Amino acid sequence: MTECLFYLDPYLKESIATVQAVKQRDGIVKLTLDRTIFYPEGGGQPSDRGIIRGEGFKIKVEKVYGKDEIWHEGKLEGRLPKVGEEVKLELDWEWRYENMKQHTGQHILSAILKKLYGLHTTGFQIFKEYNKIEVDGELNWEMITQVELEANRIIREAIPVKVEEFKYLSEEILHTLRKHVSKVTDRIRIVTIGDIDRTPCGGTHVKNTGEVGFIKVLRFYRKDRKLWRIEFVAGNRVIKYLNNLLADYWESLDEMPNKNRPLVERVRELKSEIEKLEEEKKALRLKLWDWKAKALLKESEEVKGTKIVGTVEKLDMKDAQAFVVYLVDKNPNTIALVVGRNYVILAKNRGVEGVSMRELLREVLEETGGSGGGSEVLAKGGGFKVEPEKVLEIAKKKLKHLL
Ligand SMILES: [Zn+2]
Repeated sequence: MTECLFYLDPYLKESIATVQAVKQRDGIVKLTLDRTIFYPEGGGQPSDRGIIRGEGFKIKVEKVYGKDEIWHEGKLEGRLPKVGEEVKLELDWEWRYENMKQHTGQHILSAILKKLYGLHTTGFQIFKEYNKIEVDGELNWEMITQVELEANRIIREAIPVKVEEFKYLSEEILHTLRKHVSKVTDRIRIVTIGDIDRTPCGGTHVKNTGEVGFIKVLRFYRKDRKLWRIEFVAGNRVIKYLNNLLADYWESLDEMPNKNRPLVERVRELKSEIEKLEEEKKALRLKLWDWKAKALLKESEEVKGTKIVGTVEKLDMKDAQAFVVYLVDKNPNTIALVVGRNYVILAKNRGVEGVSMRELLREVLEETGGSGGGSEVLAKGGGFKVEPEKVLEIAKKKLKHLL
C-alpha cells in the first residue's frame, strides 16, 4: 500500500521515500515506494513526471500507475535501486500544476453546463495540449459563450476549492453532489468549489479557482447521437495553444495571394480559382484529344470498313483510357489499340459489330503473357514481358484476323 502524499498536499514538489519493490526490463525500471508525490494516471488526469534519485542512480519517471500499490516507471541511469533504500522524489511541477489547473477548470465548466443548461458531464480527459469533456446534449456557440463568461467570472472571484475525505456520505451531502454516488465502499473524496460545485473526484486540484487563470473553449462538436464533445484549455496552456493557432493563421494568410483578412474568404477565392482552372484544363484537354484523334485516324488502317487506330502511349493508364474511350465514342467504325508501359487498352465504337475486345485481349495475352479482362467494347491488360511495340503489332495482327 503506497501512501498518497499528493492527496495530503497536492502542492508537494519534493519528498523522501523508501523503495518497496524493483523490476527491470530493457533499461526501463519500475518501482514501488512506501509513499509518493507522483499522481498515477486516472479519472482523466495523466500521470505525473519527474525524477527519482538515489546514491549512484537516477530514474526519469515517465509513467505512474496503480491504485493501492503505485508503480513508477522510467529510464534508469546508473545502478539498480535496492529494496529498503531511501530515495528522493522530484516532481515535474510545471506539468502537474498545469494538470491541476485543467482538472479544476473542468469542474468549473461541468458545474456551469449543468446549472445553465442541465447538461451532465459523462467523460473527461486531459491531453498534452488541450482537454476534452463530453456532455449529454446539444450545444451551440451562444451557449458556449455564456459558459465561458461564467467560468472566467468564477475564476476571477478566486473561490476556495476544498477537498474532504468521507467514510460515509450523509443524505444531505449526497443530495448536493453533481455526480450521482450509489454507495461508498471505502473512502470517498469530495471536491467543493464554494457554492458552485460539489462532486466526488480522485484527481489533484488547485486550492483556489483564481489559480486556474483562464478557461477557453476551442471547439465543440457532436460525437455521436447522444453526446457532444467540448475541447478546452486552462491555465498557461491557453496562451500556448492560442499562440500556435495564431501562428498557423497568420502564416497561412501570408501564403495567400491576397493577404487581407479573413482567411476563410481567401481560401474560398483560391478554391473558386482552382475550379475555374480545372474547367479550362478540361476544355484544353478535349481540344488536344481532338487533334490527337485526328492525327491517329489519318494514319489508321481500314479493314472491311473498320478503321484500326494503333499507338504506343506515354500517358499513364488512367489518362490513356479516358482518351481511348473519347476517341472511339466520337468516331463510328473505329477500333483503337493503345499500348503503354505495361498496359494495353483495346476499345471499339459501340456500332462496330462482330468483334469483342475481351476476346481480342484474350488472344493477345495468349501470345504476350500477362493478365487482364473487360467487356465487349473495352478491355484492359498488363503484366506482359514483351516490349509495347511488339504488343501493338500482335494486337493488330490478331484484330485483322478476327475482322
Ligand atoms: Zn477533479
